[in-house]
Amino acid sequence: MDPFGYDLHIHSEYSDGSGSVKEIVRRASTVGINTIAICDHFWPCHGSKKAGTKWIEQRREKIWNLRPVFKSVRIMDGAEVDISSNGSPAGIAAPLDSFDIILGSVHFGTTSTQWRSTIQRALGKWRFDILAHWDGYLSSFREEDGIAVARILADNDVAVEISAYYVCRFPEFFIMARDAGCEFTLGSDSHNVSSIGVLDEQKEIVQALELPLRRIDWTS
Ligand SMILES: [Zn+2]
Ligand SMILES: [Zn+2]
Repeated sequence: MDPFGYDLHIHSEYSDGSGSVKEIVRRASTVGINTIAICDHFWPCHGSKKAGTKWIEQRREKIWNLRPVFKSVRIMDGAEVDISSNGSPAGIAAPLDSFDIILGSVHFGTTSTQWRSTIQRALGKWRFDILAHWDGYLSSFREEDGIAVARILADNDVAVEISAYYVCRFPEFFIMARDAGCEFTLGSDSHNVSSIGVLDEQKEIVQALELPLRRIDWTS
């Protein structure tokens, strides 16, 4: 199995996506992706729909039920969790370690200096696997902040997402992160099933900048 044949950032109707869990898995199977991470926003995260544990449990049960049906696709039960300005994670209704994968996301406008202190505080408090759309909400980018964040991410084994939804405006950060020892992941941040796995431009960035992609050898 191709350890890089994945899309690790997909939204379903459990947050602000339009596809059902089944439609997402079927689409991944049709286009030949072997690993997907369905990473919804759960209450009180930006883009979430409903509060309560049941909402998370209901989606989890659907994922579990589909695993034996679509054996060619590994389905990760993930969440995209807001990083608040003081670094704390949004308090979603299930423990973060009950998910297979956690994306950490800054969803508020910020300078790179504030962003740097937010990421620094966050990783002093909790653990996420991937920093999603790292510059999606940045209003500015200073090299020294980029180098500092790259080092923090590398030290904490957090991968840097190459997003298809938020076009990267400061690609020099990818080089800083690569040189600091970070790994990278690909995510469509798909909100409808037709954009699942549409990652050709992101793969070109990986090749052009020689970025090391994180292997996903995940087993359920
Ligand atoms: Zn996001
Ligand atoms: Zn997202």
